Amino acid sequence: MHGETRSSILADQDIQVDLRVVDEASFGAALQYFTGGKQHNIKLREMALRAGLKVNEYGVFREPGEKRIAGNTEEGVYRALGLPLIPPELREDTGEVEAAQSGRLPGLVEVGDIKGDLHIHTKWSDGSHDLDTIVRAARQRGYRYIAVTDHTKGLGVAHGLDGARLAEQAGAIDGLNAQYKGFRVLKGTEVDIRSDGTLDLPDDVLAGLDIVVASVHSGFKQSREQITKRLLAAVRHPYVSVIAHPTGRLIGERDGYAVDMEAVLKEAARYGVAMEINAYPLRLDLNDSQIRMARRYGVSLAISTDAHVTTQLDTMVYGVAMARRGWAERGDVLNAREYGPLREWLKSCRVKKAKGIR
Ligand SMILES: [Zn+2]
Ligand SMILES: [Zn+2]
Repeated sequence: MHGETRSSILADQDIQVDLRVVDEASFGAALQYFTGGKQHNIKLREMALRAGLKVNEYGVFREPGEKRIAGNTEEGVYRALGLPLIPPELREDTGEVEAAQSGRLPGLVEVGDIKGDLHIHTKWSDGSHDLDTIVRAARQRGYRYIAVTDHTKGLGVAHGLDGARLAEQAGAIDGLNAQYKGFRVLKGTEVDIRSDGTLDLPDDVLAGLDIVVASVHSGFKQSREQITKRLLAAVRHPYVSVIAHPTGRLIGERDGYAVDMEAVLKEAARYGVAMEINAYPLRLDLNDSQIRMARRYGVSLAISTDAHVTTQLDTMVYGVAMARRGWAERGDVLNAREYGPLREWLKSCRVKKAKGIR
């Protein structure tokens, strides 16, 4: 449908996109009005009323006389209400207005903060490209490191690796690392958490890797108690440093499994394990409220693409967007660290576990 100043189109997968033409003087106000959640805007309108102002999609007006005092920029709209700009991702009325009033808005993580990708598949399992191609693509994106985390043998459909093939892959990675300055390939795995909570590779194999990402790919119908136990066992495992796609949801295809996420996050905080924000558009898992909970417990976050082809490296933007919706700052994000500090974090995670925690 379309008219003089508005039009709607249906994009891929029936996503509706509304187009509006507005006066320049109202541009910021319209952007603000149509971006924020309803509750956020109601709160702003109430604040405005108390100050003798009126806010709508055309601007901020002082009553009486309806003189426009802001509208062409979003910053101006918030400033007129005595607030700093509240980033769009936070506009949900879940504490952001109060945080803005008291100068406690988070400094949200940005795409440019990301130094590498910690969850990538290659031809060695079910990815499309060889190591070389992946490394070139990651370097083109300005990354300082990647972790190669192919599937393990339990995932037969994905040609998962066993200890022997992982050792072979490690040799290939050593060869690559010898070639490049200022870029490192970490030896990793996305080890399957089996239905009884044990991992799909023996400890001595896991001990030899730089990073162990663990995740659930089966038994989604298990009870909440069973699934939670399974994830807790993985969190406590001496060599696991990241839990990938922690709820297993696929948007529009399947709900996540029934896990007690709060229990898992508490344990992750205790054992110094990071939780993934999987950037793949159908996953985006953890979600925003879980990310906020993770931050409350002090859990580190890894924003990872789970790329199976090089173009999927670009989905990082969606993972960062979800992190921002969850109020995540750069300091919360594991892969916003340079390589050295990342290695230290990975080491300290193991030391903490070996010492029996805390
Ligand atoms: Zn996975
Ligand atoms: Zn994966």
